[in-house]
This record gives sequence, C-alpha cells and structure tokens, in this order.
Amino acid sequence: MAKNIGLNVPVPERECTDVNCPFHGTLPVRGQVITGKVVSDRMQGSVVIARDYLHYVKKYKRYEKRSSKLHAHNPPCLGVKVGDTVRIAECRPLSKTKTFVVVEVLEE
Ligand SMILES: [Zn+2]
Repeated sequence: MAKNIGLNVPVPERECTDVNCPFHGTLPVRGQVITGKVVSDRMQGSVVIARDYLHYVKKYKRYEKRSSKLHAHNPPCLGVKVGDTVRIAECRPLSKTKTFVVVEVLEE
C-alpha cells in the first residue's frame, strides 16, 4: 500500500520495496519542491536534474541564462529516464550529494 506523502501528486502505478521511496518506503519529504529535466540516469538509483534560470546582470540590464544541476533519488516504482520532466521534493540527505527524491513524472 502506498502512503500519502503530503504533496498533491498522483500515486505511482507500480509498487516497489525501496526503503527510500516516499510512497512505499519510510522516507519523509519536506521543504522545497522543484521541477526539472532529467539529464542523466546512469547512476544506480539516482538521476541528475538540470534546471535553467535567468540571472540579472546589472551592468548590461539584461538576463543571462544559468543552469544548475541537482542529484535526486529515483525510486524503482517511478523509474525515470533521461529526457523526462519530473517534480522532485526535498528530503533528508540520502548521500553526500542527494537531498531530493523524484515524486512525479510530468512528461516522458
Ligand atoms: Zn515506490
């Protein structure tokens, strides 16, 4: 049985046995929710999310495009792949660089 994670996101169709899955494991989510695009799925159980944002440069009164990458946990019941647009939620640190977990696939 999947549990309610406290966010307005659909429950995954598949079940999994991952303890670090917010729906089927014991991982609580809290804090920020971010939307981004998956740029790498080559790690085991992790994906890299990139997000673009605009930074204002005062001298030229224009915006420059910047991008940042975040590592996120990829639960097996979601199984996101490169190119997917996903929603990730903040959680406790799962490893040195992972403090987010994928909670929804918006676009495959
Ligand atoms: Zn799961």
